[in-house]
Amino acid sequence: MPDHVRITLDESELPTQWYNLIPDLPVPPPPVLHPGTHEPVGPDDLAPLFPMALIGQEVTTDSYVDIPGAVLDIYRMWRSTPLHRARRLEQHLDTPARIYYKYEGVSPAGSHKPNTSVPQAYYNAQEGVKKLTTETGAGQWGSALALATALFGLECEVWQVAASFIQKPYRKTMMEVWGAKVHSSPSEVTNAGRQIRAESPDSPGSLGIAISEAVEVAAGDPDTKYSLGSVLNHVLLHQTVIGQEALAQLAKIGETPDLLVGCTGGGSNFSGLSFPFLREKLAGNMNPTIRCVEPAACPSLTRGEYRYDFGDTIGMTPLVKMHTLGHGFVPDPIHAGGLRYHGMAPLVSHLYEIGLVEAEAIHQNECFQAAVTFARTEGILPAPEPTHAIAAAIREANRCRETGEEKVVLIAVCGHGHFDLTAYETYLSGQLVDYEYPEEKVAEAMKAVPVVAGA
Ligand SMILES: *Cc1c(COP(=O)(O)O)cnc(C)c1O
Repeated sequence: MPDHVRITLDESELPTQWYNLIPDLPVPPPPVLHPGTHEPVGPDDLAPLFPMALIGQEVTTDSYVDIPGAVLDIYRMWRSTPLHRARRLEQHLDTPARIYYKYEGVSPAGSHKPNTSVPQAYYNAQEGVKKLTTETGAGQWGSALALATALFGLECEVWQVAASFIQKPYRKTMMEVWGAKVHSSPSEVTNAGRQIRAESPDSPGSLGIAISEAVEVAAGDPDTKYSLGSVLNHVLLHQTVIGQEALAQLAKIGETPDLLVGCTGGGSNFSGLSFPFLREKLAGNMNPTIRCVEPAACPSLTRGEYRYDFGDTIGMTPLVKMHTLGHGFVPDPIHAGGLRYHGMAPLVSHLYEIGLVEAEAIHQNECFQAAVTFARTEGILPAPEPTHAIAAAIREANRCRETGEEKVVLIAVCGHGHFDLTAYETYLSGQLVDYEYPEEKVAEAMKAVPVVAGA
């Protein structure tokens, strides 16, 4: 049995291409539609918001895309990220399972997000864009884009969801250190923000609202484009460096996973880890179960409908087919801010629909309990989002203790929780609430989801 606790790669072993899962799928995912005509969108529809290079990656049918040298140079500042064997957690759980985790918290921003913010800033800078706007839920994406825009000399303006703006003031400071301008969302500086504040002055905000604000500002200025931290195909593509590294790291010690678990907000860290393994699964080289884990208070995959819906709250984006709780749904202010999104990546939704991935939903108290166990055994204090994946892995490890199965479990630990201590404090003092699934609020929000003929 291998006894490694930390597996890294040499620089010469780092991936030099991103992997595109789409050409390998048995059924292609449905197209993105224009909200007015309900016809598939073309490059011109997306050009006001995104640079051409990223629009090309959004629809590419190539299996591999070369990573530009300038992006590789920055990746090398912290990649490869370590793959750990969670030996102390295994011993604590007294499980025969072998538990591994891929840790993305070693990036300068503290999560997997710079894997895509860096190429996004690079391609925008190449095409002469001056400023990027974006939303941030947990503050991780805003930090990652602020870092990347600083490295490529672009301006950056961020709408941070109000609930997180209040819970995590130091995330704002971090973004400002990297030169970004930060607003609490809903804000007074956009029509979308003013409209939401007029309807509900104490709105905790949501990713959908913050996206509306950032898109509005980018659409109104030819020198400004918009940057999205999850959900879109090109974002998932960039994140595949995670899984390609993990495959190589496991191969070094002769291990093959039986189960992969990752938390899903918009689906990017989960996809980044799992797509290269899914490639191997589809090729018949291994057969891992691949499981999404989502918050019980915002369970888009396990409870949402598979429908065409808007990516933002106001309804400015194209229509994407995804598992959705309704674009107007504002989730309860759980601490995993990165998982408070009404929809799921269209590609992950498609995989769930065709049965290539499964999903489960977990309440936040079980997640924080798992996180504290993880911190006391493995030392790492995870962000609230990956605590969902850790909780799911612990559930599986406990099942293995009952059955005696020696499963190999791989967890996506996609960020650290050093700015999330308010959440830990709330948990440790016994005040963390488990929000019930808000059936009525979702039913209300679903009424506004557009009806697309034949879809
Ligand atoms: C943004 C974020 C998430 C949620 O986004 P995904 O696209 O689902 O990965 C989860 N965890 C962390 C640490 C994040 O920063």
